[in-house]
Amino acid sequence: MDTLAAVFREIRQPLSIERITLDPPGPTEVLVRLAAVGLCRTDYHVIRGERRVAMRPMVLGHEAAGIVEQIGTAVEGIKPYDHVVLTFIPACGICRWCRAGLHHLCAEGPRITHGPQLDGTYRRRDHAGIAVGAFCMIGAFAERTVVDQASVIVIDKDIPLDLASLVACGVPAGVGAARYRARVKHGDSVLVVGCGGDGMNVVQGARLCGASKIIAADIVTAKLDWAREFGASHGINAQGEALTRAVLELTDGIGVNHAFVCIDPPATLVPAFRATTKGGNVVVTGLTPDSVAEIRIPPLELFVTQKAIMGAVYGFASPRLQIPELLKLYRSGNLKLRELITQTYQLDQINAGYSDLDAGKNLRGVVVFAH
Ligand SMILES: [Zn+2]
Ligand SMILES: [Zn+2]
Repeated sequence: MDTLAAVFREIRQPLSIERITLDPPGPTEVLVRLAAVGLCRTDYHVIRGERRVAMRPMVLGHEAAGIVEQIGTAVEGIKPYDHVVLTFIPACGICRWCRAGLHHLCAEGPRITHGPQLDGTYRRRDHAGIAVGAFCMIGAFAERTVVDQASVIVIDKDIPLDLASLVACGVPAGVGAARYRARVKHGDSVLVVGCGGDGMNVVQGARLCGASKIIAADIVTAKLDWAREFGASHGINAQGEALTRAVLELTDGIGVNHAFVCIDPPATLVPAFRATTKGGNVVVTGLTPDSVAEIRIPPLELFVTQKAIMGAVYGFASPRLQIPELLKLYRSGNLKLRELITQTYQLDQINAGYSDLDAGKNLRGVVVFAH
């Protein structure tokens, strides 16, 4: 069959809206009709050439939910008409990390920027017959996609699919970073640098953990206002040393227990580190451009302050455990999802959506498919 897709062809150029050929699912794969896909900043880093992928053309898009239309002969536990969320790291199920339930650390993770399916072959071709890759083995900037069952989580049908798409990336990344990486405790103080899709969900996660002080920092004032709606107690519009000073002032000079670096880690990590109390945690949830190769913190300072700098992908917890749990929290009224969506777009408006993200207008833009 053929499907409309937004194809990444050239760095720093608009995604190309075109019809591509989509092959039927292989034995362990499913065909999914997409309902919604979030405009996460990670895809934008790829478009800008700041995060390299192994091939072009490639269909980007990795924060998605949809409905299963067809399954391969060896698929288990998934059937047509199931509502599904797609995970941007597949869970191969057999590597040492998957066997330990640590699907976010799956051995297949490093391959998600390569382009082929999990089995190493391609399901997409362009009009010239050239193989087209799928970012994160998903390629969700398209009306339909074919993915391995390792990338699929079946969800309850009462959850609106536009909201379900959000728990595919930004929500678990942020909420999980607070709950599972930093392990924020009741009464802790928290700094969140960068209140976009990830950061706003760190704010939500810190609130769920019972943090007493949640300091949001961003250079877009509107995002500080949004952060208060999501649970932040304080907002700081500052960066660099001024940010560090402002946080120390709010914490009696001792710094926060946990700092989350959710945007531009090269510029924000050191101020966040210095705004963290001795023995505290600094968690990097944001993508760093490939070109940045160092953290400029003297090892002696790391030693004497006894702080931990740590990374969190997918909120440092298995998406197979987290996603159903997050949807339960939504259902019980403890997690905001609808409020995360600033603007919706059709697929052929996707480049405008990324312009809006770049301009700081969107918490989350979502492409919604009208089938
Ligand atoms: Zn993402
Ligand atoms: Zn695995």
